[in-house]
Amino acid sequence: MGGTFVLRIEDIDTTRCKPEFTAAIFEDLAWLGLQWEEPVWEQSTRLAEYQAAAGRINRLGLLYPCFCSRAEIAEHSTDTDPDGAPLYPGTCRHLTQAEVDAHVAAGRRPQWRLDVAEAMDQAGVVTFSVAAPQPDDRPQVRYARPERWGDVVLVRKDTPTSYHLSVVVDDAAQHISHVTRGRDMEAATDIHALLQMLLGLPAPIYSFHRLILAEDGRKLAKSKGAPALAELRAAGWTPAAIRERLGLD
Ligand SMILES: [Zn+2]
Repeated sequence: MGGTFVLRIEDIDTTRCKPEFTAAIFEDLAWLGLQWEEPVWEQSTRLAEYQAAAGRINRLGLLYPCFCSRAEIAEHSTDTDPDGAPLYPGTCRHLTQAEVDAHVAAGRRPQWRLDVAEAMDQAGVVTFSVAAPQPDDRPQVRYARPERWGDVVLVRKDTPTSYHLSVVVDDAAQHISHVTRGRDMEAATDIHALLQMLLGLPAPIYSFHRLILAEDGRKLAKSKGAPALAELRAAGWTPAAIRERLGLD
């Protein structure tokens, strides 16, 4: 498409991000044949922008503090989200100020959730655009169903943002026209489309590539013991073979 490839380091989780991991990303991507503009954006330096965006959503009356632990959510949840995690049952959606004060007085810090039903009411019909298989064809319009994620966390306890909020803010700030992401992220785009509407941000056109799965059919993820890109390289995979498996050639 003659565009510019932008690399962004999404390092809001400061407990898990290390300079050597970032260096490994640069090396892996360069090996794949990708080149990017400098400077590379690092989300850890942009927390004030994300806080401002959270403030805008809060002023719409769409954020509420949640004091639930993971165990409490699992206990009360009756459904799962598209990733298979327990769907948030809405426990804290209508806490009174006195109940919030009591939690805070007990030393608990909240995370902040989006009231998705209320947000959908304000946003109206939420759609996003998916690139057509042929570059010359018009993008296809998809209806988003953010409600299947429940009231997602937009501001975490340990960092004043979340993946969903940061990625939407930065896609707009970096004037991203096209996003290519794995099919495992297709459902999450529902949330991003909703946030773009609430914040009045321009929306990129999305495409979703195939995944290279581990031999047991699971996603490649270091935390699950699946091989990382570096190990595929070591096992003799070529950049062309990886692009072909992802359906990107
Ligand atoms: Zn809660």
